[in-house]
Amino acid sequence: MARYTGALCRLCRREGEKLFLKGDRCFTEKCSVERRKYPPGQHGHRRGKLSDYGVQLREKQKVKHIYGVLERQFRRYFAEAARRKGAIGETLLQLLERRLDNVVYRMGFAANRRQGRQMVSHGFFMVNGRKVNIPSFLVKAGDVVQVVEDKKEHPYIVDNLAKAEHRGILQWLEVDPAARRGKFVYVPPREEIPLEVREQLIVELYSK
Ligand code: SF4
Repeated sequence: MARYTGALCRLCRREGEKLFLKGDRCFTEKCSVERRKYPPGQHGHRRGKLSDYGVQLREKQKVKHIYGVLERQFRRYFAEAARRKGAIGETLLQLLERRLDNVVYRMGFAANRRQGRQMVSHGFFMVNGRKVNIPSFLVKAGDVVQVVEDKKEHPYIVDNLAKAEHRGILQWLEVDPAARRGKFVYVPPREEIPLEVREQLIVELYSK
């Protein structure tokens, strides 16, 4: 299971905006984007204007980094989105939102998607009563995600749920923190997904 193992803040600095890859730190003044508002690397200060292709490429990279998927897997999501009915960009984001590592993050069980991925791999969760340890597992409307019995008081779960209170829960999810359980009520339409990306640029990039 391949994944990016480099510095996360570097990815945000490369895109010139906060991608919220870390959790609490992202909301403090320690955030690297706040402290150094230029791309990383020796020539970071000198980078010029992007071409149309460059803009499309950066938008795609941004979405990949946010959801923590690598190129090959991202292309598979795109191909799947293109195969289905509806707007490709919206379907692409919906597929990414349905990943179990993202869902446990959105529900507040994980501090960020990367930790969500690790927790899923380590067997923290059940979906509809069955243990699932595949981060890319796609959750469906109506599925119930629950922390397994022996992890319910794990420090990650206790801390993350306490901190998630201030984040609030998205419309398409229902969470019962005391029961360590959440429901993925429906697949969110694009306008409900809180993500500042122009997915149409990704469609244009892959349609060349
Ligand atoms: Fe990105 Fe968070 Fe690092 Fe800021 S603290 S640069 S938002 S990962």
